Amino acid sequence: MIVMKFDAGSISSEDRLRAVARLVQQNLGRKPVVVTSALPKVTDLLLQAARDACARSGEYEDRLQELRQEHEKIACGLVPDGPGRRRLIGHLGALVDEVRTFYTAVYALEELTPRTLDAVAAVGERLSCELAVAALVQLGLRAQAVDARTVLITDDAFCAAAPLMEETEKRTRLHLRPMLDTGVVPVLGGFMGATREGVTTTLGRGGADGTAAILGAALGAEEIQIWTEESGMTTVDPRLAAGAKVIPQVSPDEAAELAYFGTKVLHPVMIQPAVDRGIPVRILNTQDPAAAGTRVSPAENLGPSGPCAVVHRGGITVLLVSQPRMLMASGFLARVFEVFERHHTPIDLIATSEVSVSVTVDDVEHLPAIKAELAQLGEVRILRDMAIVALIGRGFFHCAGLARRIFDALADVNVVMISFAASDVNISVVVEEPDAERAVHALHREFFSETRT
Ligand code: ASP
Ligand code: MG
Repeated sequence: MIVMKFDAGSISSEDRLRAVARLVQQNLGRKPVVVTSALPKVTDLLLQAARDACARSGEYEDRLQELRQEHEKIACGLVPDGPGRRRLIGHLGALVDEVRTFYTAVYALEELTPRTLDAVAAVGERLSCELAVAALVQLGLRAQAVDARTVLITDDAFCAAAPLMEETEKRTRLHLRPMLDTGVVPVLGGFMGATREGVTTTLGRGGADGTAAILGAALGAEEIQIWTEESGMTTVDPRLAAGAKVIPQVSPDEAAELAYFGTKVLHPVMIQPAVDRGIPVRILNTQDPAAAGTRVSPAENLGPSGPCAVVHRGGITVLLVSQPRMLMASGFLARVFEVFERHHTPIDLIATSEVSVSVTVDDVEHLPAIKAELAQLGEVRILRDMAIVALIGRGFFHCAGLARRIFDALADVNVVMISFAASDVNISVVVEEPDAERAVHALHREFFSETRT
């Protein structure tokens, strides 16, 4: 069986939902389980309305009207006038009324807890799930809504709940297996679950991908498909350079590196349950369904090693601490890192020499205090407006000549710092921000005139 998860953009209108239904129909032979996100901006709207209610603003009522109208409009576009449409509109209306009772309570109590936020936020996916079922049924498929809260069981870390896999596996076998075996397509709203006691939880923002991964893992899926409006991960940001190519396959580590540099198609933490079981996750484009997309597969199943993308991240600050007396001394680095730790400031890259250490940070909130403390350990220099430019890939240890190609490509760019760590998937250089684009172009030209497969 497979899991087909559709993001907000791919279900944003009746036409899109019909296209989604056709995609599911084409995959009936592979026994699909369908997972939906909420419609675009709906989760934001629901959460904002809760905050309005808590601040004693009656504006939440307007937002509820907006929510109802948007879903009703799509329902009417999907289902012809008659008892079917009336039933669907009744369901949607009941959900809107349910969330209104939450808002009324929040308003009266002026209290908004993480637990309440989850009950509110889950309504977005509960609504979209009904619309997806309607689209499938209109196409003649046997599809049925399944309340995700009866199968996806989590701990009670509201707003960032973690699945209890054993219980979830038991429930998916019980509820979803029989449906799949009799040719019924189960449709679940993503993002939400419930505790063993039945209290609604969510997996955190972007959590609908998590639902797909958890259900896929629980059912031993052959593949998890994440349908988006993008063609997958690309060798370079297409807004930055012409000639960006879709990367056919990446390892989970490569996907995580790409996410750090802002590739937003997939949240690597969310797909961990699939990664743990070696189930491939494929990013596909609803606007171009025949394209192969990007597949995230266990590293051992992947082909040749080599670079997969050139990425960059600006707004980086470099701190250089030098201390000639550090020569042959021990404990210096520990003291330097301890300063960052005390100020809760994560370090991204590190490079050291015998008498100095350079680090990069993203978060400069505590920079003045950090600088003052580091000044007691040695001479401190701060370089602002820097950018990290990185070559991401896998098996770099075995790519002879890689460093030469990088340095040749960057021959006329000033490099401030270099980092290549044992993770084997990332070679980073730090350059001045105005040079970053040029560096990205040069590296992309060097490495991606032809693609890895
Ligand atoms: N609707 C939720 C969100 O906006 C979950 C998701 O779409 O992945 O965060
Ligand atoms: Mg998403």
